[in-house]
Amino acid sequence: MEKNGNAHHFWGKFMLPPDDYEIFKFGGNSLKDEERGIKTMLKYFPSYFTEEQLKENIARYNLQTMFDIVKRYFAKEYGYIGTEIELSNLYQSSINSYIYNDSVNPTFIHIDELFESTVMGFLLAMFKWSKDFENPEIYGECFRYILFLMNDVCIFGEMQGMDANHALMNTLNGDIQILQLAEDCYWTIVVFSLAHEIAHAYFASIGRKYTKEHPEKEEYDADMIAYHIVLKIIMEEKGSDTILEEYTYLAPMIYMDFFDLYYYTDRVLYKTVFRGWQHPAPVKRKSRLFAVADNDDYDFDTSDGNHLYSGFLDVYDEFKDQLLMKMEKGKLYKVLRTEKRALMRRRVDNEQKRSNGI
Ligand SMILES: [Zn+2]
Repeated sequence: MEKNGNAHHFWGKFMLPPDDYEIFKFGGNSLKDEERGIKTMLKYFPSYFTEEQLKENIARYNLQTMFDIVKRYFAKEYGYIGTEIELSNLYQSSINSYIYNDSVNPTFIHIDELFESTVMGFLLAMFKWSKDFENPEIYGECFRYILFLMNDVCIFGEMQGMDANHALMNTLNGDIQILQLAEDCYWTIVVFSLAHEIAHAYFASIGRKYTKEHPEKEEYDADMIAYHIVLKIIMEEKGSDTILEEYTYLAPMIYMDFFDLYYYTDRVLYKTVFRGWQHPAPVKRKSRLFAVADNDDYDFDTSDGNHLYSGFLDVYDEFKDQLLMKMEKGKLYKVLRTEKRALMRRRVDNEQKRSNGI
């Protein structure tokens, strides 16, 4: 997830417009509406929050504060002070995060608004599905919602509308435990993503070079650093000032699984095959992350986290099985947008040809 003069996009699917600082930095718009978000929470969780508490929560947990914490840990752990790095957070129709570093303009890290709403919705639905697996109604609703997220939101880059949001909230039916789990994991994923992007800037600052033959090496290294920072924050920021809950320590794996499901859905629905993909597959990244977690340097209680993740994996497998089965039985024709997918693919191919000078 690094964007330099060649504008390569880590997750590789949505080629952005021809590389230009202005387009990246100021492109996109904001669909965020804090007031509306608060109203939604008060409506669906009426007995749990006051408006005041929600506002306090937003002031305490937000992208900017997490960004500052991650920077603090880069200074502490790696002696790297990336003060000049800015944060950009608009809707650019992509769930990718990236760093723009052309060594001329100020470096910035982009976390798309689509990423925020999608990852949160994904966690909510997956955890609810896992918890109420035996309830056929919730099972069906969660499957359909995840399919919608993968198809319309991830593949086509469309922000979920209020109707989808309300459907999800109705499925949750005021389940505060699920909201808590999702929110806690969400922040761990945000910290991981921010740290991964800052790691690219750190490598550049110390002049570390990666060969063109193995561009995936830099991604793995960025993941290692990002996960180290996540685990350090879990271990060191405890008590009343807890930033990341220890039971969320496998949330970065869930994040990899999220991308894996997204690619899987694209393969099953549209037969998309990734050719010439220069970045490692999520499963490979995940197995390297596990190697980090196994390191004895990180010592904390992992039992709740393991339990949460194993429940997650059950529905992750279930989604894959169901998707394939329904596709084979011809039950998914209603959600297929084959023509649009083909159009998109042609556009991407053309842009790739242009950028390769063909
Ligand atoms: Zn990266």
